[in-house]
Amino acid sequence: LITDEKDETTGIIFIFRDMMASKEIQRLTQLDELKNEFVSNVSHELRTPLSIIKSYVEAILDQVEPDDHETQRDFLSVINEETDRLTLLVNDLLDISRIESGKFELTLTSVLLSDVIYSVTATMGKRDSRHKIITKIPSNLPVIYADRDKVTQVIINLLNNAIKFSPEGGTIEINVVPEKGKLWCHVSDQGIGIDQENLHHIFDKFFRVDNSDKYEIAGTGLGLPIVKHIMESHGGDITVKSESGKGSVFSIGFPCNAVDDENET
Ligand code: ADP
Repeated sequence: LITDEKDETTGIIFIFRDMMASKEIQRLTQLDELKNEFVSNVSHELRTPLSIIKSYVEAILDQVEPDDHETQRDFLSVINEETDRLTLLVNDLLDISRIESGKFELTLTSVLLSDVIYSVTATMGKRDSRHKIITKIPSNLPVIYADRDKVTQVIINLLNNAIKFSPEGGTIEINVVPEKGKLWCHVSDQGIGIDQENLHHIFDKFFRVDNSDKYEIAGTGLGLPIVKHIMESHGGDITVKSESGKGSVFSIGFPCNAVDDENET
């Protein structure tokens, strides 16, 4: 109300709020916050392996005896692992930008899903001795028509998350099952799980569950959106079941004509 000096009402001001516009502003503000957090996560993700590489190179140059080949090899293998970590991150960044510009392409060939899984688990199992990785894959599985590198990327990503978000000693299981015209691969862990409210957002770009662990567990929130895009561009599916504190099951299904449900074990 507008009043004069005698406190008598002389006018009324109405304020109209455009709820659609304020919702949009709220959405953009949230996206902006996520992007800021993402830039800081990416910087951290780049800096950590770089500083490890630098310190190991300096040690080889200044501290390790030239004929101490064993120590040199140990240090070089750390450098090698950290370089792989950097490559994965840069690839994720490139993938997201290719997806956004519509330039993400698949090179399709006949792929044996079991081959991909065994090769990923062999490499990752060697690097991570803190978890038990079990595979349950029936024999005589039909081939899928897919981009082998991208399928490898999906399996690495899901397995990496299962490892990252599980306590030491946890078991991670990879199950392959032909079902309803698709070849399904279920990656189950006994880790921290995801509550129902956050479960709806985990495939959103940059999203990371807001819990105290988020600051200790490295990540950028790009992995699952890329995995989802890869699955969709194969005409496949991705689903997740999870319970906070109990664990998660990520399931990916590839279209496959020759699937025979009797193959199930
Ligand atoms: P990043 O792992 O880099 O954070 P992702 O896109 O792969 O990004 O995952 C998004 C978020 O989903 C993670 O930050 C985590 O909060 C949650 N998440 C993904 N996989 C799991 C899992 N196996 N167990 C618990 N939480 C998970």
